Amino acid sequence: MKIGFIGLGVMGGPMAANLIRQGNHTVQVFDSVAAKMEPLCDQGGIPAGSIKALAEKADLVMTSLPGPKQITAVALEEGMLNSMPRGAGWIDLSTNNLSTCQQLLSVANEKGIEYLDAPVSGGDEGARAGSLTVLVGGNKSVHDRFLPILKSIGQHIRYLGLHGAGYSAKIAQVVLCYLHSLALSEALMLGVKGGVDRQQMLSIIQNSTGKSYVADRYGPPILAGDYDPSFSLGLALKDMNLAIEMAEDLDIELPLCRLTTETYRKAVDEYGFDANHLKAVRLLEEKNQLFLQT
Ligand code: NAD
Repeated sequence: MKIGFIGLGVMGGPMAANLIRQGNHTVQVFDSVAAKMEPLCDQGGIPAGSIKALAEKADLVMTSLPGPKQITAVALEEGMLNSMPRGAGWIDLSTNNLSTCQQLLSVANEKGIEYLDAPVSGGDEGARAGSLTVLVGGNKSVHDRFLPILKSIGQHIRYLGLHGAGYSAKIAQVVLCYLHSLALSEALMLGVKGGVDRQQMLSIIQNSTGKSYVADRYGPPILAGDYDPSFSLGLALKDMNLAIEMAEDLDIELPLCRLTTETYRKAVDEYGFDANHLKAVRLLEEKNQLFLQT
């Protein structure tokens, strides 16, 4: 199969590398930052000169882009859907919202493109290991057609129903990452301010009813003071904004999500879009003048 992969960032880079490594497919790659294409080309990927050039030749295009704005730009304004041959597939691995999904679906249908929403969970580690969870929405027959490809990037492929189901599941699941990060920092702060050693406090949490992936994976970078470089604060805020938009569309009230979104918004204002995502914890550290790093 001729695969075109657009968006070679923290997640897209290793996912494209896994497809290339498999050796069963021709993989063309494209990123608006040309330097991101080089390591993939060293591994056997073929550089594309533009999105149109990539799309024209593809049986399947996969995208891993920051959010709705960039996905719409690539799919519509930069000509991806227009250039793809009828009958080709498009798998969007990004975290996206339902209104963009509906808009893109109607264009994809018009052009005869088979579109799946397939956002992923498992972070950069999972992307490198090919062990991601992939949350798939779209027609079952299209899911079945591309299942072998999905299995090259993920270990757990969940077919969830029609278009948008994948994006909905991803947004609903990802809010816990940010709620848990802030909850973890509050618990650490309380214990440490009360006189408990930082490492001991984290270890107690990791072995309590409050234990979580977030405590195991993000507790150490909070205590190290590097705030985890694997994901940006700006993309975290984008995820929370998607959750709030989705809640408003569905007419449900989510007070903890609102508070968390506000905290991430303040953190982006203070530290910038590209800061490490756990810098949101830094706001609380500054407020209490208690820094958790050892
Ligand atoms: P990233 O910013 O590292 O990568 C996005 C890539 O898209 C960048 O290389 C950027 O140059 C490229 N890009 C942007 N606009 C483009 C355009 N118009 N044309 C071509 N390329 C363009 O982001 P990421 O962390 O890899 O995340 C990608 C998606 O996966 C996001 O939707 C994110 O929410 C989601 N996600 C990320 C993680 C994570 O841990 N990083 C985990 C799960 C899901």
